[in-house]
Amino acid sequence: DAHKETLGFQAEVKQLLNLMIHSLYSNKEIFLRELVSNASDACDKLRFEALADDALYEGDRELNIRVDLDPGARTVTVSDNGIGMSRQEAMDNLGTIAKSGTRQFFESLTGDQARDAHLIGQFGVGFYSSFIVADRVTVETRRAGLGPEHGVRWESDGTGEYSLETVERAARGTSVTLHLREGEDELLDGWRLRGILGKYSDHITLPILMAKESSGEEGEEGAAETEQVNRATALWALPKADIGEEEYKTFYKHVAHDFEDPLAWTHNRVEGRLEYTSLLYLPSRPPFDLWDRDARHGVKLYVQRVFIMDDAEQLMPRYLRFVRGVIDSNDLPLNVSREILQSSKVIDSIRAGSVKKVLGLLEDLAEKQPEDYSRFWTAFGQVLKEGPGEDFANREAIARLLRFASTHTDSPEQTVALADYLGRMKEGQEHIYYIIADSFAAARNSPHLERLREKGVEALLLTDRVDEWLMGHLMEFEGKSFRSVTQGELGLETIDGGEEQGEEGKKADQEAHKALLERVQKVFGESVREVRVSGRLATSPACLVRGADEMSAHLERMLRAAGQ
Ligand code: ADP
Ligand code: MG
Repeated sequence: DAHKETLGFQAEVKQLLNLMIHSLYSNKEIFLRELVSNASDACDKLRFEALADDALYEGDRELNIRVDLDPGARTVTVSDNGIGMSRQEAMDNLGTIAKSGTRQFFESLTGDQARDAHLIGQFGVGFYSSFIVADRVTVETRRAGLGPEHGVRWESDGTGEYSLETVERAARGTSVTLHLREGEDELLDGWRLRGILGKYSDHITLPILMAKESSGEEGEEGAAETEQVNRATALWALPKADIGEEEYKTFYKHVAHDFEDPLAWTHNRVEGRLEYTSLLYLPSRPPFDLWDRDARHGVKLYVQRVFIMDDAEQLMPRYLRFVRGVIDSNDLPLNVSREILQSSKVIDSIRAGSVKKVLGLLEDLAEKQPEDYSRFWTAFGQVLKEGPGEDFANREAIARLLRFASTHTDSPEQTVALADYLGRMKEGQEHIYYIIADSFAAARNSPHLERLREKGVEALLLTDRVDEWLMGHLMEFEGKSFRSVTQGELGLETIDGGEEQGEEGKKADQEAHKALLERVQKVFGESVREVRVSGRLATSPACLVRGADEMSAHLERMLRAAGQ
């Protein structure tokens, strides 16, 4: 039935609409980028679903996007013949925010306009950005495969409610009509719109069509003619020399749904046994769902320029989940499915090659643009630390990219590379020392470091949640093993002027303080395994140490906190 209903937006949508209209006004032209991007996504989805069900094309395979103006009605319309939406989908997609990270996003807002505008940009402005320039938006849509009687009209003024109604709609796909606000008439100019499309949407691989501009008086009969206004070439398929910096950046904003410029990128064409092209980007900031287990992966898979799927998790390991971009293979079949990807040798090679490229890009950045690298590290360092546990083959390369706080810099900033540490090691020093604690202050002030400090031996100060996991998988770096200062022996004897006492001396000390040691042992009873004289301390009287073979105190606390 065609019954019309009026529904309220989810509270978050109302909040987002309000914020967006106020803080993104100076950037208002992005609405067109968002609508074209959605239209393009909708065509990609149709193509993907049609791999399994060709009937979805309904005899019309020429996917395209149209932008139309009606100066009389003061409207701009963006249409596509993509997948379309059912009534339920329109309700779910245009009335709520289903995105992961939504809660964190709203929690992070502060009311400071400039800052919030930034955050909204990162979160993704999407469809709702229409309301920056429109005081009423009408969406007409029909899902591919459903009959014309299943058309849907969605309409809202962007304040608190929207209406939903079933209508007849012959055309598959979606058209979004913006009724422009007072004062937005500049958008009724075809050249102005072409300018915006050129700036933001040139790389969209589908044709974007617009009515030809009639050149003055004799225009009448030409009015219905359309022309393509974008280049519609896959950016990654062009030779590098033909692509400008700005083009790379704009393309990034499209693939990554990001508002900001990327930090760096790597564009490669691989030829030989396998043929593929990859264009991979490092974002400048973490997305809101970085820590979400189900967060989408950011690499899109294409086969011979044809979009296959978003979010192909087989293309990047989890510890590189912040990477965005595209991989275009010439070797996979067009009807490749997720199941096929899981056991594909081609994918395994592409993934291995792409991981190398990303690690290489990071190494380059660290070497040549240390400031950018430190931005990267602040944003994604903790994710990269998952790497040694996940990617055995690249452990060394990942280890070179790690940055730590240490007693040398004496600052919580993570800036010390393992190579820096090695360069400062004492004559005869055999281990890379570290301490894991809950906070920088706790690590830095730990009595376990007294002896090291006295000898001028540096220790890494680790305080991230992931550090325990990291150190469980990093065994050594360039021949030097890692050693926790809170476990087992320190092994400082080999350092010049090291442990003054040999085994003999230790025994003698132990004897000399026998009575005290026994008394302390008695007081602690079962809760300690052994009480002994230690060479670890300089000024503190005592400290607790774990056996080299035991779980660290920090890990135990974490497990206990997790209820294990
Ligand atoms: P995003 O594109 O990041 O998912 P948007 O706010 O831009 O977020 O769009 C929300 C959702 O609305 C999309 O995920 C999609 O499901 C649906 N949608 C928007 N535009 C279209 C369209 N032209 N055709 C089909 N579905 C659309
Ligand atoms: Mg979108």
